[in-house]
Amino acid sequence: MLTAESKIRDIIPVIGFGTWEIGGDTCVESVKDALNIGYRHIDTAQVYNNEEEVGKGIKQSGTDREDIFLTTKIATNNLHIGRIKPSFEESLQKLQTGYVDLLLIHWPIQSMNLKACLQAMFELKEENKVRHVGVSNFGPELFERSLIYGHIANNQVKFNPYHTAFDTLEVAKKTDSTLTAYSPLGRGRASKDETFSEIGEGHNKTASQIILRWLIQLGNVSVIPKAASEKHRRENFEIFDFELSEEEMKRINDVTKTK
Ligand code: NAP
Repeated sequence: MLTAESKIRDIIPVIGFGTWEIGGDTCVESVKDALNIGYRHIDTAQVYNNEEEVGKGIKQSGTDREDIFLTTKIATNNLHIGRIKPSFEESLQKLQTGYVDLLLIHWPIQSMNLKACLQAMFELKEENKVRHVGVSNFGPELFERSLIYGHIANNQVKFNPYHTAFDTLEVAKKTDSTLTAYSPLGRGRASKDETFSEIGEGHNKTASQIILRWLIQLGNVSVIPKAASEKHRRENFEIFDFELSEEEMKRINDVTKTK
C-alpha cells in the first residue's frame, strides 16, 4: 500500500516538492510549508539559484535534517573535473547541511567526461557528503551506459501524460535504479484535462491528483510537483487515500499515446 511515507527501493520518498522557479522569501516559505504539510523530499539544483532559500526553509521548518531527503544537481557548466567538488561544496554551504541525499548530473552535455564526472561524485559518496549518486535527463541508452560506472540510484526525467518516459522507466526497473518524474503535471496542463477530471470525479479527486497517483502507481517512480501556491501544495500531497483501478491505469496509459 502506498502511503505518504512510502519510498521507492527503500530510498526515495514517492512524493517530493519541486522548487524550480521559486525564489526569495516565497521559496523559504514554500519549503517550510511543504515540510509542515508532510513532504519529506525536496528537489533543488545549483542552476535554480535557490539553494540558500531551500536551506533556510528547511532550518526554519524545525524538521530534523535526517528526516528529509534532499536532492541537488550539478549544473552543466560545473560538469568537469575541476568544478564538481568545489561547486558541490558551495551547494552544501548554501543548503546549510553537511550532506545531500541525492546528487545528480543535471543534464548530459557533449563535452562531459561521464566516467570522470561520476567518479568525482562517487568520491563524494565515499566522503559521506552524498548518500546516493544519480543522473537527470539521461535517455535509456545513456542511462544504461552510466550504470557500468557504479550504482546510479536515480534518473530524474520529464514524465507526464504529454511526455512519457516508459522506456527509461523499464531500464530503471531492470537495473535496481529508480525514476523521478519531473514536470509531473505537465507544468499545470494536467489540471485542465477533461479525461483526468472525469476519472477524478469517481474518487473525489482533481485531475492533478489523478496524474500524480498514476505516476506513483506505475511503480519505481517518485514525483516532485512544484507549487508556489499553498492550495496546490496541499492538494498534491493528498494522493494516498485512494487507488486507481487497473482499468483506470490502462485508460490513462492509453490516453498518453494520443496526447
Ligand atoms: P510541474 O510540477 O509539472 O507543474 C508546476 C505548475 O503546475 C505550476 O504552475 C503550479 O502552479 C501548477 N500546479 C501545481 N500543482 C497544481 C495543482 N494541484 N492544480 C493545478 N495546478 C498546479 O512542473 P515543473 O515545475 O516543471 O516540475 C516540477 C519540479 O521538477 C521542478 O520544480 C523541479 O524541481 C523539477 N524539474 C527538474 C528538471 C530537470 O531537468 N531535472 C526540469 C524541470 C523541472 P503554482 O506554482 O502557481 O502553484
